[in-house]
Amino acid sequence: MSLVEERARAIFDRYSIKEIRIPVLERAQLYQRSSGETSDVVEKQMYTFTDRDEGETVVAIRPEGTPGVVRAYVEAGLDRTDPEQRLFYSGPMFRRERPQKGRYRQFYQFGVEVFGRPDAACDAELLIMIDELCRNLKVPFTMEINSIGDQKCRPAFREALVKWGRAHWDELDEDCHNRIDRNPLRLLDCKRDAKVTESAPNSLDYLCDECRAHFDTVKELLTAAGVQYVVNPRMVRGLDYYTRTAFEVMAGGLGAQSTVVAGGRYDGLVETMGGAAVAGIGFAIGVDRMALALEAAGALPAITPDAAIISMGATATHHAVVVARALRGANLNIEVLSPERKVKTLLARASKIGARFAVIIGDDELARGVLQLRDLKQSTQREVAEAEAARAIVEARG
Ligand code: ATP
Ligand code: MG
Repeated sequence: MSLVEERARAIFDRYSIKEIRIPVLERAQLYQRSSGETSDVVEKQMYTFTDRDEGETVVAIRPEGTPGVVRAYVEAGLDRTDPEQRLFYSGPMFRRERPQKGRYRQFYQFGVEVFGRPDAACDAELLIMIDELCRNLKVPFTMEINSIGDQKCRPAFREALVKWGRAHWDELDEDCHNRIDRNPLRLLDCKRDAKVTESAPNSLDYLCDECRAHFDTVKELLTAAGVQYVVNPRMVRGLDYYTRTAFEVMAGGLGAQSTVVAGGRYDGLVETMGGAAVAGIGFAIGVDRMALALEAAGALPAITPDAAIISMGATATHHAVVVARALRGANLNIEVLSPERKVKTLLARASKIGARFAVIIGDDELARGVLQLRDLKQSTQREVAEAEAARAIVEARG
């Protein structure tokens, strides 16, 4: 997971996105207002408890990052004083889910939120950045994009979905029956892969001219940048606050939980949260799933010691600490093995932890200022001067 985080951080830096730290606890109300009462997260996945303060505030352990970022943004008055902001957060999120591969109750997200940029170039820039990250991580992936319209054109699409839902009542499950009136967009979300939704209305057919032009520009910019994407007109996001561009990135080798990045535009959210009418767009990377995808693709570099240090005798064992320090000073990864075992056992241990070399120090070597350098890959051993050890390891390692 740390590799995903490191790479994401480095790339966000180059896109001038600054870190914001948000709290793990927020009022539950925050999520009800932003994500929406009928979202999966608020409806059934949020961990909440009643605080012991006078007002008996209901507190939630954060299920997602966006509402907390928007709250902080509005609270700091940035929506009025300095609305254009590019922020990222990272950390654990908590949802009451049925645990399975790639789906946990505590999982990690790295997320970006950009405020004050309603233009399509901003959508494209974020998608280009996501594409860059996935390529950098060397995971096979597919990017899907869609536009779900805005307050002006979405009502007609919603209406069409309700109509379609009623007409196909018998083919839908109970979950979807509940969604017809409460959150018709999620009729697509819940049954996306099933044949049932093939006859459902398509969000692109309902876009107003402005939303269509916006989406066309996003696509043009992606094509110009060489980003490969697929338009999936049946993709919607599960949260209420999204408008216009929605996107997901799926990685190979993950089975059912294949979405590793998800996000979209949310132009009305800041205002809903009591701020000014400022546009917003963001996404979150599911770090756990991304790490699983890396593993499946064989793209997770193993971190193994350059050398394991084996010492014999009390004086040599003391000195092993000094040798280790000097080797680490040369930027080598060094593990000192327990001195209380036989050399044969320790050599086996050194191989097991994947060390390339074993550095063997006995009292005799110590007296002569040398050590035995055993190449565990080639099964060769030679004596080197202590002062030469780091260079010898670096050279042999190549
Ligand atoms: P899903 O449809 O898989 O439940 P979601 O729509 O709930 O995803 P978002 O809220 O958009 O997901 O979160 C963004 C990303 O965070 C997801 O694409 C996924 O990679 C990751 N994610 C979400 N929930 C979990 C979880 N319970 N365990 C691990 N990763 C998760
Ligand atoms: Mg979910």
